[in-house]
Amino acid sequence: MKELILKIAVTEFDNLNELNSLEYELLNKAIKAAGNAYSPYSNFKVGSALLLHDNRVVTGNNQENAAFPAGICAEQVALSNWGANFSHLSIKLMVVVALKNEKLTDEVITPCGECRQVMAEVAMRNGDFPLILAGKNRILKFEKSVDLLPLSFMNK
Ligand SMILES: [Zn+2]
Repeated sequence: MKELILKIAVTEFDNLNELNSLEYELLNKAIKAAGNAYSPYSNFKVGSALLLHDNRVVTGNNQENAAFPAGICAEQVALSNWGANFSHLSIKLMVVVALKNEKLTDEVITPCGECRQVMAEVAMRNGDFPLILAGKNRILKFEKSVDLLPLSFMNK
């Protein structure tokens, strides 16, 4: 028997100015996507943007529903769009943000467990990708999205 210690590498940025231009541009696309979220029940708008290998950008935002389980997270909207239309292109970078009262949240928001599982399977299908979770006062960059869900479920 031995103890295993799982480590993840995370870069923490103090403010948005520390992002490179590519990251900052994608962040703004995620913010724009969040602005178009349909979230009348939570009033919490989440946006996600994927930068693909050919520099195309795919975005998503949360789509809530009166029948709550029918709602879908921003991350899954973007990743489903990728899966339906662009799965032949690898993902270079993913950004997730949220708006509160139409403004970027101060802190990062982190993907729910279901979204982490979806990201893990996308990473398995077509290669892993860095993930930026951004708030106004704090930004976290994970070099691999699977780091958010160690020992994820894989049916193989
Ligand atoms: Zn989610």
